[in-house]
Amino acid sequence: MTRPVRALIDAQALRHNLKQVRETAPNSKVMAVVKADAYGHGLAAIANILIEAHAFAVASFDEGVVLRNAGVAHPICLLEGFFDAQELNLLTHYRFSSVVHNLVQLKQLERCQSSSPIDVWLKADTGMNRIGFVPDEVPDVLARLQKCNAVGRVRLMSHLARADDRTDKVTNDQIALFTQLAAGLELECSLANSAGVVAWPQSHFDWVRPGIMLYGASPVEGHSAAELGLHPVMTLTSELIAVNHRSKGDCVGYGGEWVCPEDMPVGVVAIGYGDGYPRLASALTPVLVNGERVPLIGRVSMDMITVDLRGRPDAQVGDPVVLWGQGLPVEEIAAHAGTIAYELLARMPKRAPRVQIN
Ligand SMILES: *Cc1c(COP(=O)(O)O)cnc(C)c1O
Repeated sequence: MTRPVRALIDAQALRHNLKQVRETAPNSKVMAVVKADAYGHGLAAIANILIEAHAFAVASFDEGVVLRNAGVAHPICLLEGFFDAQELNLLTHYRFSSVVHNLVQLKQLERCQSSSPIDVWLKADTGMNRIGFVPDEVPDVLARLQKCNAVGRVRLMSHLARADDRTDKVTNDQIALFTQLAAGLELECSLANSAGVVAWPQSHFDWVRPGIMLYGASPVEGHSAAELGLHPVMTLTSELIAVNHRSKGDCVGYGGEWVCPEDMPVGVVAIGYGDGYPRLASALTPVLVNGERVPLIGRVSMDMITVDLRGRPDAQVGDPVVLWGQGLPVEEIAAHAGTIAYELLARMPKRAPRVQIN
């Protein structure tokens, strides 16, 4: 028997979530965002399940190469574009399309002697204030791109900064500005991330770019994934490897921070921050043992956590444990650890084997 940690990847849930995207944005093509190893789920495996997406988006050239080597023939977009002229020269070989967000990239394209044209996404900054050309620069940049021999099709992209908050008016301003920019250009346009897909129908345009919702976590504040009809794709599982009876006053784990208030059973689960479980998960973070919630107690170690089994005195070594996923939303664990589902998923280490189910 090997160490029981597994990150189960539910292919059916993933396909279901893609279908939710399609139904929510029925007039848009879907660029599935699979950066950061498909939010920690496993890049090649996820892309091969998302075969019905129209394109994929990644953050780096290397991620794109992983997809091509896995046999993915879809259009692949580099969300930050190429990082130097050398990478630019390889784009055509792999048939990647590229975001162009700054003048350095534009000049490199103008100097590029590509044999076959590269499709680009002109990135406009409509209020995120991170990357992209400001609206006033867009017409000139567009004209320059369209004159480049190395450039094939040009499309327009921008990114929403606050779409996770349904009440934030800035999103309306961003949508209005983007609509105005797009007007009369006859370019394909893309603005919406997952939150845009779910909460801002006016942001859908020709292409939507969902990430987190594909993986079954909620992109909008105050709405659970279940309410939005999304199914969790990753379920992080392990087992109880010890059940120990402690006495009143015993201190549990590193630093002895948790003190037993009475004689009680303490369970030990083989999972820790070395497996991607957040070290900062606070006491009382829920853990499913045999499908029932029990509270985390004491500090998270690299390979183990301890749980309060007073509510489950029948629990035994070998019983199944779920850390997040099916029956326990990853958003809830993230909230207990002072972070967001995106981070917990994206930083999942290789150490936790990804096992495809369904
Ligand atoms: C990561 C990313 C997305 C996907 O965002 P989600 O919130 O995960 O849906 C979309 N567009 C761009 C430019 C991104 O960087």
